[in-house]
Amino acid sequence: PYFFWSITVSRFWSPFVKDLVPYVPGEQPKLDNLVKLNTNENPYGPSPKVIEAIRAQLDDSLRLYPAPNADDLKQAIAARYGVNTAQVFVGNGSDEVLAHLFNALFQHGKPVLMPDISYSFYPVYCGLYGIEAKPLPLDEDFRIRPEDYRGENGGIIFPNPNAPTGILLPLDGIEQILQANPDSVVVVDEAYIDFGGETAITLVDRYPNLLVTQTLSKSRSLAGLRVGLAVGHADLIEALERIKNSFNSYPLDRLAIAGAVAAFEDQAWFEECCNRVIDSRRALSESLAGLGFEVLPSAANFVMARHPQRDAAELAAGLRERRVIVRHFRQPRIDQHLRITVGTPEQNRQLLTALGELL
Ligand code: PMP
Repeated sequence: PYFFWSITVSRFWSPFVKDLVPYVPGEQPKLDNLVKLNTNENPYGPSPKVIEAIRAQLDDSLRLYPAPNADDLKQAIAARYGVNTAQVFVGNGSDEVLAHLFNALFQHGKPVLMPDISYSFYPVYCGLYGIEAKPLPLDEDFRIRPEDYRGENGGIIFPNPNAPTGILLPLDGIEQILQANPDSVVVVDEAYIDFGGETAITLVDRYPNLLVTQTLSKSRSLAGLRVGLAVGHADLIEALERIKNSFNSYPLDRLAIAGAVAAFEDQAWFEECCNRVIDSRRALSESLAGLGFEVLPSAANFVMARHPQRDAAELAAGLRERRVIVRHFRQPRIDQHLRITVGTPEQNRQLLTALGELL
């Protein structure tokens, strides 16, 4: 009966929705005894000061709307990165920031350049806004080739470090792309930059066509709070604000603003967690290599690894039976890789034990 109901009611869908192919996020099962290494969350919790700041908001003031411009948070971000608040945009996770920028800054009628192996939300946004996506192949070592990012285009976007490869493009490669494309917006999605990369935010004053996005979901352990940001020339930010204000004038709720401000204030906690993840990444990569895996050099909080003799889908299924979840992509060139989030040393040990049983 449910099936019948759903096909009859779906006749109310707009034709546009019928053709829409949405993004499918990694699964979020209940945690009981699972070693969850599938969606690149931080294995350490947020700063206790974040929890405190959110608790302090849990009162009668929730009846009031939040600050329409999240000014306190913009100030915290501007101070952290040495820019002014007119150069900062915030949204519900970088996914929302990305959605707005595809709409606000990429030119329709021209292809948007992106790596062929990259964040799979980008082609989804292209579909949503009727923009052509032009995927450019990575080189044989899975690196972005800056020299390919040129010619007529409606914008450029890539994660740095790239996801799901984890490979970092140094700032000179980014500058090469910026210089070759003075007439298009170049977006550097720095979701994973704090785990060993150098941010391109230092370039925004020299390149008015550069927009850098970041998230509090990974290095600041706040995936559940949904806070993302963009930094760039004030005119790019103004375009994002116009789109945002045409959807929902309140970028973030009161709890998210308070928690995010506190997260930027506790720099020591942030650095400690990042350093722990970086140390564990090195140990995990070495142990995986010891088990015969080929591991891509990662600057992120995950590693991409392939076993030359074992099928990746079977390994992922075997791990799951042992209550360890990792991510496997059914995509050309990476369908024999596993993307493994760096966990705590204990979680990594459980992963390696389970792999040891399977190999
Ligand atoms: N960009 C990249 C490259 C990502 O991997 C992710 C996380 N899936 C995001 C953006 C979005 O993160 P969030 O919406 O949690 O900020």
